[in-house]
Amino acid sequence: MVSSDYGALKVHEVRLRVGALAGVAKDALLFCYDIATADTTLAGSKLVVNEVPVILYCSVCREEKELTDLQRFRCPVCDTPSGDIRQGRDLEIESILIDEYAST
Ligand SMILES: [Zn+2]
Repeated sequence: MVSSDYGALKVHEVRLRVGALAGVAKDALLFCYDIATADTTLAGSKLVVNEVPVILYCSVCREEKELTDLQRFRCPVCDTPSGDIRQGRDLEIESILIDEYAST
């Protein structure tokens, strides 16, 4: 493990928030995580991917609606087309769980 400038860190878990439109394949991300993090501070840590749905704003319902079909950008209630995407392009780190070893 590579130690950082902040002492010997052990990262237990990394949580990612990934939108359905982020262009990220969850399975591929999980599959390559161990290889990509080998010999880094993240080696041995667990990757948790939280997928978030696409939310559209419908100008007819005047509400945000969860998209049920990614092939059709329409309000699931009134079927009005909408390109006003309020959520679903996210790709961000939600949290990182770390143990810091006390220096001796
Ligand atoms: Zn609607």
